[in-house]
Amino acid sequence: MEGLLLPSIANVSVQSLDVSHEAVRVNVSSTSAGAECPDCGSESTRVHSSYLRFPADVPSGGRLVVLRLRVRRFFCPEPSCARRTFAEQMPGLTRRHSRWTERLRSTLAAVGLALAGRAGARMARAFGLPISRSAVLRLLDALPEPAVPAPRGWR
Ligand SMILES: [Zn+2]
Repeated sequence: MEGLLLPSIANVSVQSLDVSHEAVRVNVSSTSAGAECPDCGSESTRVHSSYLRFPADVPSGGRLVVLRLRVRRFFCPEPSCARRTFAEQMPGLTRRHSRWTERLRSTLAAVGLALAGRAGARMARAFGLPISRSAVLRLLDALPEPAVPAPRGWR
C-alpha cells in the first residue's frame, strides 16, 4: 500500500485508510527502529513519547487526503548533547511544522507560480484545497531563487 500511496518515501508504513464522503484519512507511521539526533547525530531507539500530526496531501478521486502521522519523540543518548529529546523526521514526506506533505507543497507552489496569490488560492480551492492568498504568497517567498537563463540571441 505504501508503494501505491506514498511511492519513493522510505521507511514509512500505511497502517489503514478511513474513507468518508469528503476525505481519505491515511494512518502512517515510521518503520525505522530509531532516529538521529539533529544536534549531535547520535542514533537513538529510546522512545520518549509520540504524537499525531495531520498534514494535508494532494487530493485523490475528488476527496481531500489527510495523513494521520504518528511521530515519535526520542531521548538523545549523548550525555554531552544539549538536546534532551527530539522528534523523528520523515524526509520526502513532510517537513517540520508543515501543514502539508512535500508533494502537496510542490503542487501548491506550482499553482502559485503559474497564477500567483489570489488566483492561485482560487484554483487550489477548486481542487478542494483550502489555502489563503497570503499562504500561496508565503510559499512562493520560500522557493529558492530561479537561475536566470542567459538571454537568447546574444551569444
Ligand atoms: Zn543529541
